Amino acid sequence: TEALDRAEALITTIPDYPQEGVLFRDITPLLADPRALADVIAALSEPFDGQFDVVAGIEARGFILAGAVAIAAGVGLVPIRKAGKLPRPAASVAFSLEYGEAVIEIHDDIAPGTRVLLVDDVLATGGTLCAAHELVAAVGGEVVGTAVLMELEALGGRAIVGDVHTVFTA
Ligand code: 5GP
Repeated sequence: TEALDRAEALITTIPDYPQEGVLFRDITPLLADPRALADVIAALSEPFDGQFDVVAGIEARGFILAGAVAIAAGVGLVPIRKAGKLPRPAASVAFSLEYGEAVIEIHDDIAPGTRVLLVDDVLATGGTLCAAHELVAAVGGEVVGTAVLMELEALGGRAIVGDVHTVFTA
């Protein structure tokens, strides 16, 4: 749509951040724009509206989007955080990133069978979302959908994450 084209044009590409050779997509100009922010929040959850009981958001930019999606849908938010940041970690998963290694964790605040929508900002190699799926499953949740603002197609994340709803593709 025209509204989403306008939002997409606000995403900036930063070469060599956070390290040489990485083309970083900076979504902050989009977040700073009230129309673009509202338009992408609606588009993120649109295929799953009415089908999820909670949103799981991935640190750190994922939190921004996930919190807004949760409020718009009238559901709660469960954070998935880097290791050491949550006081009651119930599960931990290690994975490799486009630039480095990471461990993420979750609290056991998801009742068995709860329908979970996973939200993050960018799908790159897919390691983060795969690990997030594992975490939700480990605490008994059922991932009913995965939504990201932008998929970096060349990095092949879709092949390992499976079905992902993406608002923008680069
Ligand atoms: P993956 O695990 O799919 O390789 O990397 C995805 C994670 O790294 C996401 O949590 C995302 O926030 C971050 N990430 C990787 N590349 C980019 C990028 O170009 N822009 C932004 N905003 N985040 C990125």
